[in-house]
Amino acid sequence: MRLRNNPKANEILENHKDVVVLNTKEHKGHWRNIFDNDNPIFIEIGMGKGDFIIENAKQYPNINFIGVEKFPSVIVGALKKYDDSSYDLKNLRFMKEDALFLNEVFADNEISRIYLNFSDPWPKKKHAKRRLTSHTFLPIYQKLLKPDGELILKTDNRILFEFSLISFQQFHMDFHDICLDLHHSDGYEDNIQTEYERKFSPFGPIYRIVTTFKG
Ligand code: SAM
Repeated sequence: MRLRNNPKANEILENHKDVVVLNTKEHKGHWRNIFDNDNPIFIEIGMGKGDFIIENAKQYPNINFIGVEKFPSVIVGALKKYDDSSYDLKNLRFMKEDALFLNEVFADNEISRIYLNFSDPWPKKKHAKRRLTSHTFLPIYQKLLKPDGELILKTDNRILFEFSLISFQQFHMDFHDICLDLHHSDGYEDNIQTEYERKFSPFGPIYRIVTTFKG
């Protein structure tokens, strides 16, 4: 899946300036100008090959979507899907960025929602700080999210899910909706699947939680 070693990846990104934002830090506080409107901005951190964010952009034209991904070769996979979809999605952008640096990219309160879908579980205890729901990242998200902005986590990994619940609770976050089996529960018919979700949901439940930070 990772395709991390495409030597032409950065060049391909450069050639997709219509949808890939390159100098991300230059737009801090001015992302509305990229979209030329004041619609809310939702981001997915670790978008992978982009199934989820592309489908969201199609279904919700009045929301602006940004897919954040650390590895350029992975973004190339998303670009292929974007090109194949033959949609001209004016409300969608991709960026190569590490979640660690998102406060250099977005101003305080600039983002309305963060999606974390099937984030890497980093199963070894010594790597716990690298999990995208650890206290390494929560203060970053808190700053860039609007006061009522949501952080929505979806995963098939029960250990990561339990770790995240504890991490959110210790960070005094509010829990709004917890689902322990997304694909077999009522009320989630509008769920948009990710690539990993399609791959792993046949083997067990998908967990999901909606949270907000305290003001
Ligand atoms: N969200 C997709 C899905 O559900 O199909 C991809 C899930 S994949 C397991 C996790 C993705 O997160 C990978 O593409 C990885 O490169 C990306 N990622 C991991 N750590 C990241 C970070 N610190 N910043 C941005 N992306 C990251």
